[in-house]
Amino acid sequence: MTRSEDLFNRAKRVLPGGVNSPVRAYQSVGGCPRFIKKAEGTYVYDEEGKRYLDYIGSWGPMILGHNHPEIQQAVVEAAQRGLSFGTATEIEVKMGELLCSLVPCFDMVRMVNSGTEAVMSSIRAARGFTGRDKIIKFEGCYHGHFDALLVKAGSGVMTAGIPDSSGVPKGCAMDTLTAVYNDIDSVRKLFEENPGQIAALIIEPVAANMGVVLPREGFLKELRDICTENGTLLIFDEVITGFRLGLTGAQGTYGVMPDLATFGKIIGGGMPVGCYGGKREIMEMIAPLGSVYQAGTLSGNPVAMAAGLTQLKYLYDHPEIYTGLEEKGTKLYEAMKEIAEKAGLTCRLNHISSLGSIFFTGEEVCDYTSAKTSDTKAFANYFLAMLKGGVHLAPSQFEAMFLSDAHSEEVIQQTLKVFAEVVEKGEIYE
Ligand code: PLP
Repeated sequence: MTRSEDLFNRAKRVLPGGVNSPVRAYQSVGGCPRFIKKAEGTYVYDEEGKRYLDYIGSWGPMILGHNHPEIQQAVVEAAQRGLSFGTATEIEVKMGELLCSLVPCFDMVRMVNSGTEAVMSSIRAARGFTGRDKIIKFEGCYHGHFDALLVKAGSGVMTAGIPDSSGVPKGCAMDTLTAVYNDIDSVRKLFEENPGQIAALIIEPVAANMGVVLPREGFLKELRDICTENGTLLIFDEVITGFRLGLTGAQGTYGVMPDLATFGKIIGGGMPVGCYGGKREIMEMIAPLGSVYQAGTLSGNPVAMAAGLTQLKYLYDHPEIYTGLEEKGTKLYEAMKEIAEKAGLTCRLNHISSLGSIFFTGEEVCDYTSAKTSDTKAFANYFLAMLKGGVHLAPSQFEAMFLSDAHSEEVIQQTLKVFAEVVEKGEIYE
């Protein structure tokens, strides 16, 4: 028995499924999760000391690679000054100033501790501001485990929300309407059927939780217009895209300004951080200024702020990182496509900058329905074969690959070599 297997058996006795977040349990791919002991640059090392080339990057935040020396040092220095004060601190002001200077829609920002919290609070702010209850989300978009957004899309686009998880009261999901990603008519119909009732429309501007799915040209702008026409707030959930596509997030990349935006993990550099922010008149609704209550004992924690601010400043000082990620992403994902095509492997590769996903389907993947045509058994075979070859991918078809600044040309070539071998063996489709 390996150390990971032993730990997983122990974990399963005390942690539901042996994990603290479901996808880590490898349920959709089978096998035993690797228990990671340490990480450096592009590599993670499991409990047995085996080294893997990592494309999870803690699900996004490690854009500079693991254990970046400047972030590590900032955390150590902050910890030496005290772990938490529960009071206002200078570093929160610096963080707020930097975020408001970079994120186009931010006049004001509130720090929280996770992406889920950021989304939940932004929805409350939108409801408080508009005095309306209903919200629109998109099938296949994930916005954290907040009750109102854990809603099954169902087959139709008009259906009122049906909770996707037990324990979510019907009432919580009742005001959640679901539209089809990239389908503006499905959005229009919801607005027509619920005139004057929709507080907010929330979207992952590039979807990354049904695998990577790009917005078709003009789609985000169309959403902006329809929200403006209807007095509905447009919320970009930038938990994945923020500071990953560039310093101004998807809103800068696509030139579409939301009213509110949420950010997560990446602004914490590996520590539990999130934030939501937007136009001044909306953010002035938040307590203690306004009537929308939202608080957090550990929000703006000094150690977490030190990690996050150091990461963001580093990115700001080195904008060439984004050009590098763009080049590396194109090189890696296009080369994977070429290898697959040459071998006659049925698959689709969606990618933008450092984010990418492979789908084992012949269909173009542009929404949740097409994403679900991917053969998940083939994905599991691919995942396990890559892992055997030393490449650590997200153990789910519906997640993204995350490249970091630490992924060198050599690392990319090594990944392609492993991928070519896996494809050549012909074991992906059984
Ligand atoms: N929003 C998006 C787009 C996400 O991808 C995630 C998590 O991956 C969340 C929200 C929730 O963030 P957290 O897991 O920090 O609560």
